[in-house]
Amino acid sequence: MQTGKIGVTTENIFPIIKKFLYSDHEIFLRELISNAVDATQKIKAMASTGDYKEELGDLTIRVELDKKKKTLKISDRGVGMTREELDKYLNQIAFSSANEFLDKYKDQANNLIGHFGLGFYSSFMVSDKVEVISRSWQDGAEAVKWTCDGSPEYTIESAERDLRGTDVILHIDKESKEFLEENRIEELLKKYCKFLPVEIAFGREQEWKDGKYVDTGKDKIINNTKPAWTQKPSELKEEDYQKFYRELYPIGDEPLFNIHLNVDYPFKLTGILYFPKIKNNIEIQKNKIQLYSNQVFVTDSVEGIVPEFLTLLHGVLDSPDIPLNVSRSYLQSDVNVKKISGHITKKVADRLNEIFKKNRPEFEKKWDSLKLFINYGMITEEKFYEKAAKFALLKNTDDKYFTFEEYEKLIKENQTDRHKTLIYLYATSKTDQYPYIEKARNKGYDVLLLDGQLDVHLINHLETKFRDSRFVRVDSDVVEKLILKDEERESRLTDEQKDDLKSVFNVNVKSGEMYNVVFEVLDENESPVLITQSEFMRRMKDMAQLGGGSMGFYGDLPDSYNLVVNPNHPLIGKIYEDLRSENATVLDENAAERKKVKEEYDFLQNEHSKKKDEEISQPEKDDLEKLRKELEEIEDSRKKVLEAFGSSNKVVKQLIDLALLANNMLRGEDLSTFVRRSVELL
Ligand code: ADP
Repeated sequence: MQTGKIGVTTENIFPIIKKFLYSDHEIFLRELISNAVDATQKIKAMASTGDYKEELGDLTIRVELDKKKKTLKISDRGVGMTREELDKYLNQIAFSSANEFLDKYKDQANNLIGHFGLGFYSSFMVSDKVEVISRSWQDGAEAVKWTCDGSPEYTIESAERDLRGTDVILHIDKESKEFLEENRIEELLKKYCKFLPVEIAFGREQEWKDGKYVDTGKDKIINNTKPAWTQKPSELKEEDYQKFYRELYPIGDEPLFNIHLNVDYPFKLTGILYFPKIKNNIEIQKNKIQLYSNQVFVTDSVEGIVPEFLTLLHGVLDSPDIPLNVSRSYLQSDVNVKKISGHITKKVADRLNEIFKKNRPEFEKKWDSLKLFINYGMITEEKFYEKAAKFALLKNTDDKYFTFEEYEKLIKENQTDRHKTLIYLYATSKTDQYPYIEKARNKGYDVLLLDGQLDVHLINHLETKFRDSRFVRVDSDVVEKLILKDEERESRLTDEQKDDLKSVFNVNVKSGEMYNVVFEVLDENESPVLITQSEFMRRMKDMAQLGGGSMGFYGDLPDSYNLVVNPNHPLIGKIYEDLRSENATVLDENAAERKKVKEEYDFLQNEHSKKKDEEISQPEKDDLEKLRKELEEIEDSRKKVLEAFGSSNKVVKQLIDLALLANNMLRGEDLSTFVRRSVELL
């Protein structure tokens, strides 16, 4: 028997390893099985080149639990190790890399294991003793057993093993009892080993018999050794891709399309990405892609490895060229990783373009479920935008789809305003904004439907891309002013008449709500009263709601609307006539008085303006102030008359409520009052 002391300076290396790698204890199983797979692949390779001439035998890797002995055993029929190799690999090399590892990465040790040949030693994270019994493939090799209890002392002795291969036996320590549970081991095998290229057996297949499950005596194989992504695209049918999707995600919607990646140069990358149906909330859809290295599962968080928008895709990426056991910040700056992620972005765009070109109707049909992903990509990745701008679609309120180019052509003639700006009209809801959509349509305009989660961001982005263009929501102004043309329309009411009516309307708009009464000269067939909301304010608020960071200020503002009154509508004219017929004398007297005082005031003020302030005497100043007050009083008393008329006028109230109703903004008590009033008026 050989005994020895491993050549490390740090006596207590295992406690340190345990401590550093604490959060990831479970990966020991991945590391040990990867070693077993490697050893098996090596013997297969040697058999195929003729370097190994014996029977390969059953190459299944076996994982066995012995609860009584508190052991977990991993057995393979790979190349095995000679006494010298055991000494070299397990004592010298691994320990020196352990030292190197500890020196370099004391602070950020989490994922560094396999990278430093520490794979095997991760077994000490969960064991107080590890035995390795191995017999090399070489002719006449004797079986040897290596034992180590976690101190740097080890023993190597002769052992019994009939067949070529290696058993690694872990004596699970007290703190790691979970790894003696069948369920836990099965869970780990499913997580890390589901697609390893060598069959892995754990437990027996069960069968339902006479009211209970019984062993069938057949090995339960936990992995699919030939997952779809490792096969040639030409050998796979659509169903195979669908089947594989189900293997990855047993529940959920069918995906829309897939891309089979297969790159050999300048890096190795295989994988299948699926486009899921994405309806709304992108957050919950993120991070479904699984990352593998030679079929060994590494992580299901590809953040930082692929561009943000691609994390919405599902599927598998497998690349031995992604340095998997290093920190994420290191990953992000890695040249290979950058190349790979650029490549994936390009492939994804090309695939979408191909589908668009080959089968546009199909692409349109799937657009609504795809658009969130594509929009996300366009907003966040310039390279993707460049490609996607050719196939991204805009949907209008008639459910017709257009490319950016097609749509520009469609609206160019009709929707260019007098400043040569092309106005893209849009609605965010076909039902809520129906009256505005209808008006815009009647004017020959086209209206887009932008009701997606990212659409506000998208239009901000598109405005920076499209030249001389602006997006305007249909209800942000009266239809005449959405797209300003040269024509000016004459108002049927004078400015003074409008001022009077403003007070009549103002008194009916509840204080506290932000309604601003404005007059817009519209066609007499247009509505008498309308409600609009400024494009700018609304968009700022929307952005704030989506979490635009510094935009919080806008989010806190109340909604503000314009109550637009159309002076050319006969009903508005009629209201003015009623106002006159009820109040002509008092209004005229007030106006005459106002005129007189105003003249005096203007005269005095004009006199004062010719002098310097110190040349004006106090009595003169008092006179002017007296006139100002008088004017104010005259105006106040006029306002009282107007407001008294306004508050008792049912038509004014009715018109305002109708405008609110058209916007789905009339609710609760106001709505019942409206209904009652309507009946009265009828
Ligand atoms: P790594 O796998 O990163 O090289 P390990 O510490 O896991 O580092 O293993 C060290 C070496 O021990 C391996 O490179 C391999 O040569 C040998 N080895 C480990 N496990 C086995 C096994 N099951 N069969 C044959 N050789 C093995």
